[in-house]
Amino acid sequence: MMTEAFYPIGTPGQPWGDAETSEWLSRQTRQRSYAVDVLSVIDRLRSRFEVVEYGRLDYAPDAYPLLAIRSRNWRDDLPCMLVTGGVHGYETSGVHGALQFVDQHAADYEGRANLLVAPCVSPWAYERVHRWNPQAIDPNRSFRADSPAPESAALMRLVAPQRDGMLMHIDLHETTDTDESEFRPALAARDGKPSEPGEIPDGFYTVGDTENPQPAFQQAVIAAVAKVTHIAPADGNGEIIGSPVVAPGVINYPLKQLGLCAGITNARYTTTTEVYPDSPRATPEQCNAAQVAAVCAAIDFALAHPA
Ligand SMILES: [Zn+2]
Repeated sequence: MMTEAFYPIGTPGQPWGDAETSEWLSRQTRQRSYAVDVLSVIDRLRSRFEVVEYGRLDYAPDAYPLLAIRSRNWRDDLPCMLVTGGVHGYETSGVHGALQFVDQHAADYEGRANLLVAPCVSPWAYERVHRWNPQAIDPNRSFRADSPAPESAALMRLVAPQRDGMLMHIDLHETTDTDESEFRPALAARDGKPSEPGEIPDGFYTVGDTENPQPAFQQAVIAAVAKVTHIAPADGNGEIIGSPVVAPGVINYPLKQLGLCAGITNARYTTTTEVYPDSPRATPEQCNAAQVAAVCAAIDFALAHPA
């Protein structure tokens, strides 16, 4: 027998209003510090890279500067590469993988590529280990014109000048056990829909663009990450999180149509990484290393296949 699990906020079948959103917000607590974990790390990179403040989130009593890291010698004749992390604040290795990439590998691309890295797009959610912003909006469904999420709008403004000039964009994410235990039920409750149980895959996978899948590019990322951590197998239906597996460890979504971060440019090569941090077979260090391997492989592939 199926037991229907009701989310503790709202009335089943009815979308949340302001009262329910406020109740949800009142339950969110700060569990870690963006200033300590992210801003201090970026400060240490300032001697080697350009740091730009591309926006500021004022969520009283808290305020969050939005920072991006750029190649110091930005040259118009070089291909541009975009790395984003922390669009979902709770997906820790996306944030720290992006920062680790800059620290360990960004200098290797000096004179070959222009790099733009936004390591923590949603810092309020980073601190609360949550998926949404304080308005209970998922920034990663909000990369569209007149975005309701300030996190998404700010990143779109940052990237706008290179929207057509970007060659590659890799957006760093995780798929976690809390997706199934907390975030999917919360989403269903917020929208007044039934919560349908799903499976969380054990391992790494990527999400390419249905409209521009670039399978060789996706496989280059998978091959690099497979040296660091295991790749998610397809489930009994040949799927990962409800989408057909089109190649080992790869599914596709219509990125722009869904308002996903990886669709914010017209880059030839786009992908979303999904690291699984709750695997008994993966440590936090491995998860960060998997993100770094994915970023390097994505840039290397793009440099080798520029047109
Ligand atoms: Zn995510």
